[in-house]
Amino acid sequence: MNKFDYLKPTSVDEAISLFGKQTEAAKYIAGGTDVMVKIKDGKIKPGCLISLRHLQGLDHLTYEDGELRIGAMVTHRMLELSPVIRKEFPILTDAVENIGSVQVRNVATIGGNIVNAVPSADGAIPLITLGAEIRIRGPEGERAMPLEDLFVGPGETVLRPGEILSEFVIPRLPSRTGGAYCKHTRRAAMELPLLGVAVMVSLEDDMLTCTRARIGLGVLAPTPMRARNAEATMEGQALNDQTLKKAGEAAAAECKARDTIRCAAWYRRDMVKVLVPRMAKVAIQRASK
Ligand SMILES: Cc1cc2nc3c(=O)[nH]c(=O)nc-3n(C[C@H](O)[C@H](O)[C@H](O)COP(=O)(O)OP(=O)(O)OC[C@H]3O[C@@H](n4cnc5c(N)ncnc54)[C@H](O)[C@@H]3O)c2cc1C
Repeated sequence: MNKFDYLKPTSVDEAISLFGKQTEAAKYIAGGTDVMVKIKDGKIKPGCLISLRHLQGLDHLTYEDGELRIGAMVTHRMLELSPVIRKEFPILTDAVENIGSVQVRNVATIGGNIVNAVPSADGAIPLITLGAEIRIRGPEGERAMPLEDLFVGPGETVLRPGEILSEFVIPRLPSRTGGAYCKHTRRAAMELPLLGVAVMVSLEDDMLTCTRARIGLGVLAPTPMRARNAEATMEGQALNDQTLKKAGEAAAAECKARDTIRCAAWYRRDMVKVLVPRMAKVAIQRASK
């Protein structure tokens, strides 16, 4: 393992300033569950790690007037144990309660999961499906964007050097909305998904007609993606078996599944056809509550 300095700023401004002053490659570290693995594997060799752990104001979880705000340093375990998330945003609980182990979830943050930007990041799929916006602070000030626009490719984001992802803002959901996420793996624990599928539906007061559909797919493209063609097949329709089957087929057709050492593309596409209707049914049940 290479030697590095380890700095512990206490404010976001100090962290950004320290980043700018480093002569050797600097890297932010949150929970370290991705960064340290990469350092040990020799994939990255930072001269300096700047810890985000002691920064004030990045670990909030607030729910006001239907709007949810999650600080980037909130851990998966905090999300998993939050009664508000479990009640109002169970699609997020579905995702975080199956990340790694309790030990990993105790330190790993939602911000790190997103900035690491792997197509298998469990946190990313429900968040793009929820329409999350992100807030970013950096040397040039603050900016915001839809989370979906953050990702460029595997491990790549539009973050500029020194920028810190500070929070996620999830807008108020329409009434009669439900959502569900499923991580499809070969075994039940400590596995990255072979694919991840999230579905959200909003219903008319007949509790059958879909007014809005959102489908998020993971490991089915170089970046987390929305299946917009599939969403269009659901909107305005009665959500019966036939409509859901069509949505699954449309999502399988528009995803960009690849063959990898872990799974064949045809299997991933077939499972999209199964999991989109399955998650839609859970979402409908949750919307009905
Ligand atoms: C045993 C094990 C099992 C795992 N299982 C899963 C799993 O099931 N599903 C899954 O999705 N992931 C899994 N992971 C991956 C990892 O735990 C998650 O991606 C985690 O959320 C990363 O968060 P972190 O706080 O540890 O990030 P770190 O490792 O600290 O950082 C990750 C990257 O994000 C950057 N970064 C972190 N926070 C910020 C910020 N606020 N602003 C700007 N840059 C930032 C860092 O510089 C680094 O590039 C697993 C990891 C391990 C070791």
